[in-house]
Amino acid sequence: MELTQEEKDNRAAAAEAAQLKVKLRSTKPDEQAALIAGCNPCPDCGNMPHAIVQPRGVPGFGVIDTYEIGCLVDRDHRAVGLKREDAVKKWNAQDFLPPKDENGTPIPKEKQPLPT
Ligand SMILES: [Zn+2]
Repeated sequence: MELTQEEKDNRAAAAEAAQLKVKLRSTKPDEQAALIAGCNPCPDCGNMPHAIVQPRGVPGFGVIDTYEIGCLVDRDHRAVGLKREDAVKKWNAQDFLPPKDENGTPIPKEKQPLPT
């Protein structure tokens, strides 16, 4: 079966994330620093974010490893991308994952209170 370009991209991104995952198991500070290279400090607490690789369901592709950058203090500040650069870009743009309600269900954007 022919793969679409999107599937090829996702597959390449998943392979990259899998490689990063190996690196992420390393706790060497210089390697963690490389993984968040280009990230701004957290807009709320000013700490540098933390990078992890997280398996996630992607529509049309199944469960793949995705790259997540988040603040260890502000748990609702999490930016996810298929590639490291995407996650960094979203983190810097404060394009965070939707917050979750008390049951851990993500609150869709349209139901979130507007920022004041
Ligand atoms: Zn923070």
